[in-house]
Amino acid sequence: LKETQPANGVKRKRDEGKVQPSPLQQKRLKLLATRKLLPIWSHQKEIRDALKENDVLVLSGETGSGKSTQIPQFILSQPWCTGKIAVTQPRRVAAISLARRVAEEMGTPLGSSSPASKVGYSVRFDESTSPSTRIKFLTEGMLLQEMLRDATLGQYSCIVVDEVHERSVNVDLILGFLRGLLASKRKKPIKVVVMSATADIQGISWFFAAPSPSVENVENFTGNANGHTIGTEETPVKSPISAEERQISICHVEGRQYPVKLDYLASPTEDIMEAALHRIFQIHCKEPMPGDMLVFMTGQETIQGLQKLVEEYAQGLTADYPKILVLPLFAALPQAAQQRIFQPAPPNTRKVILSTNIAETSVTVPGVRFVVDTGKVKVKQFRNRLGLDSLLVKQISKSSADQRKGRAGREGPGQCYRLYTQEAYQTLERDTIPEILRCDLSEAILKMKARGTDDVLGFPFLTPPPREGMERALLQLLQLGALEDTGRISEVGRKISRLPLTPSLGRVIIEAAKPEMDCLLETIDIVACLSVENIFLNIDTEEAREQAQTARQQLLRRQGDHLTLLAAVRAYAAEHSDRRRWADDHLISHRAMQSVMDVRKQLIAQCIQSKLLDKAPGNDRSRATEDRATDEATQERILKCFLRGFSNNIARLCPDGSYKTFVGNQTVTIHPSSVLFGRKVEAILYNEFVFTNKAYARGASAVQIRWLEEIFG
Ligand code: ADP
Repeated sequence: LKETQPANGVKRKRDEGKVQPSPLQQKRLKLLATRKLLPIWSHQKEIRDALKENDVLVLSGETGSGKSTQIPQFILSQPWCTGKIAVTQPRRVAAISLARRVAEEMGTPLGSSSPASKVGYSVRFDESTSPSTRIKFLTEGMLLQEMLRDATLGQYSCIVVDEVHERSVNVDLILGFLRGLLASKRKKPIKVVVMSATADIQGISWFFAAPSPSVENVENFTGNANGHTIGTEETPVKSPISAEERQISICHVEGRQYPVKLDYLASPTEDIMEAALHRIFQIHCKEPMPGDMLVFMTGQETIQGLQKLVEEYAQGLTADYPKILVLPLFAALPQAAQQRIFQPAPPNTRKVILSTNIAETSVTVPGVRFVVDTGKVKVKQFRNRLGLDSLLVKQISKSSADQRKGRAGREGPGQCYRLYTQEAYQTLERDTIPEILRCDLSEAILKMKARGTDDVLGFPFLTPPPREGMERALLQLLQLGALEDTGRISEVGRKISRLPLTPSLGRVIIEAAKPEMDCLLETIDIVACLSVENIFLNIDTEEAREQAQTARQQLLRRQGDHLTLLAAVRAYAAEHSDRRRWADDHLISHRAMQSVMDVRKQLIAQCIQSKLLDKAPGNDRSRATEDRATDEATQERILKCFLRGFSNNIARLCPDGSYKTFVGNQTVTIHPSSVLFGRKVEAILYNEFVFTNKAYARGASAVQIRWLEEIFG
């Protein structure tokens, strides 16, 4: 009422003073009509009833049917739901955009913007909640982080685990912990909703139906350790206890899917970029049907490369054609840029969204009628025997290909162009292999240990990882000093587990905070860069490489990429007039740099919280420390800290001129993007092992064998 009173204080007459809903409420009412059209809307009662009677609901429904946005709202008003609701997401983009959407639908401000906000989010390096938050969207990693403070998740009445079909390691850990929690004597019982975009949910129901989280029982339900998903042909479920007996509700929400016309290549192509570019313009110029385009690429680099090409070619289009607006979508993209994909295209413009597999199920991009699928995905693959974590570009699975295709038929009939042949499709694996079977387990194991699970081999895994991998990871944690000889978590391990970083990077930070190393701030800057993918813009030609060399001359450090990153962050931070211009001049991504500054701030705050740092550095920091960063002794200490955390990523120069790893004796080549590319130094330390056509060491720095002896004996 106050808002509607005129400024001069004269009261309005009754009929004039009809209270206008606030803009938030207007939006809410408008969205309510859209919500009612979602397939899940008609299942509201069924879902509420199921949760009234049972503690676990397993729900499957096509992407876009309304699971993530509606389920938390359906249960919020239930009498049993007196605490908060957590909704986990595998990716930060999805967590943030869902929180924003649900806040709008509920007519409440978002997150920390108001103390009355009911919907918030929490993702790594960014928490936005209020004292009144009831629904919290958070990444799986953040929920695990919260379990460090309170393993019983006492503030929550319900945990909604979304996107379980992706089978990330974190989701597998959460499911295991929740199963334990359901069986525990918690003050108030907790309810669990598990949601999947694929219909293959029987296995999850069996998992929760198991009477108690002991190894024997789990083995009954999950078959052998080499299988993919439980309950599939490969891993027959041995003891089918029906979900009804254990009171697990199962619900399936039918999708809203229009027909999608499929098109394959007649013959295979080697050049995916070229094929994608060609197809994008063919659709754009020849296809009269309106609608946006969604192109599935492998990662940030290919996306940015293709974006440049599409934008160049689009400039050559005559006025007869609509304009093209290229929008990238990948996990490391800053929030504001990610939100642009949800806005409708301007008039006479077609949006072309170039995305990683984020848009496969995690994020619903409105307006899409055309899908271009390269059939590839970038995945982390760990090789236990070599002890190497590598990023591989791999073929997607059939279920991924079908999900991608489905994105074209959400709002009307669509078309999907697969940039591979029909025969190639037939050879694809049926399902994506769960991450837990192909990743380095050290982070997962440290998480378990830090949350009180000492017997990690007995943890109730949905799909138990191979024992060899678990043993290797335990060994690595021992090497990092994160575990004591007894296998219990050490003080160092606890500190690492509180940092939102991999155990290796966490160890680097702990090392750098030691008084004798005294290079924490420098190390944080480098770690911040390593957390946001590539800050240097992609260089694809020899000519561009030379140009970049000149532009970045003052930043390049001959010792390698770590110190080059440090120099770049310091120079950027010291630039006070026009940072965007500075970034452009140095062929550095301004967007990525903004994220680096953000992460850096958060890491500093974390280090203060964990008592690794006394106080935040003052404003004069960039000048003073820039000088110090060039000092050789500091540089040596910085690299030694990285060695301490990355002892498996070291290779020495062999007489034949190649580099071979100390662990596994694997040949690696320095990546062309590295400052060290083409140089011969006695040993290298690298951040990442990438296997494309060759085994590449990316993010490499020169180290001395003498240092290794000092550190490792
Ligand atoms: P599901 O979880 O089943 O995939 P969602 O609840 O995420 O479905 O989405 C339901 C609908 O809400 C989508 O079809 C989409 O139109 C809309 N929606 C979801 N998130 C957003 C957003 N951030 N902005 C605009 N619309 C959105």
